[in-house]
This record gives sequence, C-alpha cells and structure tokens, in this order.
Amino acid sequence: MGAKKHLVLIGGGHTHALLLKQWAKAPIKDVQVSVINPGKRAAYSGMLPGFVAGHYALTDLQLNIEALAKESGAKFIQAAASDIDLEQQTVGLSIGGTLSYDIASIDIGITTGLKNIEGFAEFGIAAKPLDHFAQSWHQFMKDVQQGHKRPQLAIIGGGVAGCELALAMAYALRNTAEASIEIIDRSEILAEVHPRTRQIIERKLHEQGIQMHSNTEVLRLTENHVHLQKGDNVQSLASSFTLSAAGARPYEWLSSIGNEANPFLLHEGFIQVDPYLRSTNDKVYAVGDCAHMTANPRPKAGVYAVRQAPVLYKNLVAELQGKPENRQLYQPQKDYLKLMSLGAKEAVADKLGWQFSGKLAWQLKNRIDQKFMSLFREQ
Ligand SMILES: Cc1cc2nc3c(=O)[nH]c(=O)nc-3n(C[C@H](O)[C@H](O)[C@H](O)COP(=O)(O)OP(=O)(O)OC[C@H]3O[C@@H](n4cnc5c(N)ncnc54)[C@H](O)[C@@H]3O)c2cc1C
Repeated sequence: MGAKKHLVLIGGGHTHALLLKQWAKAPIKDVQVSVINPGKRAAYSGMLPGFVAGHYALTDLQLNIEALAKESGAKFIQAAASDIDLEQQTVGLSIGGTLSYDIASIDIGITTGLKNIEGFAEFGIAAKPLDHFAQSWHQFMKDVQQGHKRPQLAIIGGGVAGCELALAMAYALRNTAEASIEIIDRSEILAEVHPRTRQIIERKLHEQGIQMHSNTEVLRLTENHVHLQKGDNVQSLASSFTLSAAGARPYEWLSSIGNEANPFLLHEGFIQVDPYLRSTNDKVYAVGDCAHMTANPRPKAGVYAVRQAPVLYKNLVAELQGKPENRQLYQPQKDYLKLMSLGAKEAVADKLGWQFSGKLAWQLKNRIDQKFMSLFREQ
C-alpha cells in the first residue's frame, strides 16, 4: 500500500453509503478506502414497510454497497468485522485475517435479534439487519402463495417499527384467507408515540383485525408457535413467521474492544462519540444507530444517520490530511418529521405534537424516500 493512508469503513449503513457517494465525487489523494459489509447490498429502512406491503420491489430499497465502493475507488470486503485491536490498529474479519487502518469508522447499525429467548435463533427472524429480513419476507410470501406455509404471523415488539410492519403485512395478505397477525409487547403497544398518532395507528390495527397482546412476555419459540405469559396466564400462538422488531440492541462484539490502557467507552453497549462523531479512541469514529452521541443523545433513527454523513466525510478527511482543526461539530436536530405508513398507500405524519394522516401523508413519505434513493441511482 506504500505511503497511502488506509481508511476502513466498517458496515454499509446509511451514513457510510452516503459518505462513499461523496468520496466518489471528491476522493482524497493518497488514501485507500476499504468497506466491510456482510452483504453486497444493504436495505433502506424508510421503504421497508412499503416493500413488505408490496408497493415496492426489493431492488427499489437496496443500496448496492459493492457498486458504491467500486464507484468511489474503494475496496469492498464481503465479511463482518468481528473485533478491533486499538493498539495494533487492525480490524478482525469473520472470513479470517485482519485489516490494518489509519482511521476506522463504524456504521453497523443495531440488531433486534432476541438471543435470550429460547428458540429465537432457530425459529425467529430479526427486523434488523434489514437486508436479511427483507429476503426472509420475500421467501415467506412465496411459500404462502404456494401453500407451503400458513399465513400466521407474530411480531414481537409493539413500537412504531413493529406496528408499521404489522399493517404492511396485513395489506400484503389482504386477499389471503385465514391470515392472522398478532403483536406482542412486554409493556404497552406504541408507548413512545404521541397519543393522537397512537390513536390513528391503533384504529388501523383494529380495522385490520390485528390482535395486540400488551404487558405480555415471550417465553420461547418452537416450530410454528410462540409461547407467551401474561400475568399468570400462559398461552401459545400459532405462527409460521415470527419477527422481532423489539428494541434496539447493540452488537455484543463491540464490548470486547479496548482495555484499560486503550479505553473504548460504551453507553449501554452503544459506542460513545463526541460532537465530532469520534469515539473515545482518536483513530475510530462511529455513526448511525451503533453510536451514542454523549453530548446530545437522540433516539435511533435513520434521519440522524443520514445527516451525519457530510460531517463524517469532513472529519475523516481532516484526520487523514492531518488537519484536525478543520473538523466540524455535528449538532443533531431536536425533533424530526416522523412518517409512518399504514399498510395501504396511507401514512401518518407527526412532528412536534402535530399530525395529519391519509393518502397525502403517504405521497409525501414516498417522495422523500424516492428522493433519497435517487441519490444512489444517479451516475
Ligand atoms: C421497519 C423499520 C422502519 C424504519 N423506518 C424508519 C423511518 O421511516 N425513518 C427513520 O428515520 N428511521 C427508520 N427506521 C430506523 C432506521 O432503520 C435506522 O435508524 C437506520 O437504518 C440506521 O442506519 P445505520 O447507518 O445505523 O445502519 P443500518 O442501516 O442499520 O446498516 C448497518 C449495516 O452494517 C452491516 N453490519 C452489521 N454488522 C456488521 C459487522 N460486524 N461488520 C460489518 N458490517 C456490519 C449491516 O449488515 C448493515 O448493512 C426504521 C427501522 C425499522 C426496523
């Protein structure tokens, strides 16, 4: 690699995808970039419920990370990072071997996998990472259409993502006889949503016959069943597609990074970053859902991952050019327009306690999502 510096991008999340786009337009001399992602493609979350409902094809929401890497002159490595050695400045790879870096940036998102629930690894599907879920849904719909699977679904997690996906699934199965969808949450359904938005979504869930089990624990999963407990009552639901959209869990391997001499601080498992998006190690940055912005904590949402991209680009360039004084602070916005789809081509918009719903809200959401994806389609 000679005197070239090496920038390693770990994960093909939304921030890194946008960063690669920017790098293609303005590459930095004498810097080699490598991108590590388990799949050649990653999925764009905003359009995922629309894909599940059947409004979009899988390719409409796929970000081609391999092609983005190629376009920006970066090397694409199809693997998962499994470790970072801060002293040696190397990244361990799931395919074996290590990769050395001058500067690394982590954008690996979160997982909704439920490792602690017996049977989940065998019979459950996590909504995140999105690309794996998107493929599983595609296959499930084929199996249902061919009569290989019954249209019985259970969704663990009654937050916005879980309810949006439940409505999308109900729409996709609207002409399928005997379809059943159940949402299970250990506390209240849609607890974190504005009461008026919650009312709108709950009305839709009722209209679609989606059953809601609040204050209910999932005990275990077996083939085609989810076993639940509410108070003293134990119950089993038939389910041939059990999805977890529950919470935002950080990847466990992050907790093995660093030591006393080289601390790598986490907040509840998420990488602590300063307002420059830098971790507690000065050679490692972190963005998107896997990062915790210590000075300005925010909920996990794609909107922050997207807005971090130009700042991350600027700061990585400043680091690589040895001009840290050129770095820029990232100031996350306080609130953002939340647009949640309601199955059919309808959505509810919510910002600062103000909301509207219906076809217009969906058209607005569709326009914003298509605009985002068009950034990656243009040459
Ligand atoms: C159903 C659903 C709908 C949503 N809708 C919205 C919405 O409308 N608006 C909104 O703002 N937010 C939405 N979100 C939240 C949004 O998905 C996330 O905030 C956003 O995806 C975060 O992007 P990210 O950059 O952190 O990375 P992600 O998009 O999560 O991508 C991370 C990438 O890293 C890869 N990766 C994982 N582990 C490794 C590893 N060890 N090594 C290398 N690569 C790895 C993954 O395979 C993936 O490609 C939604 C979430 C869900 C589940």
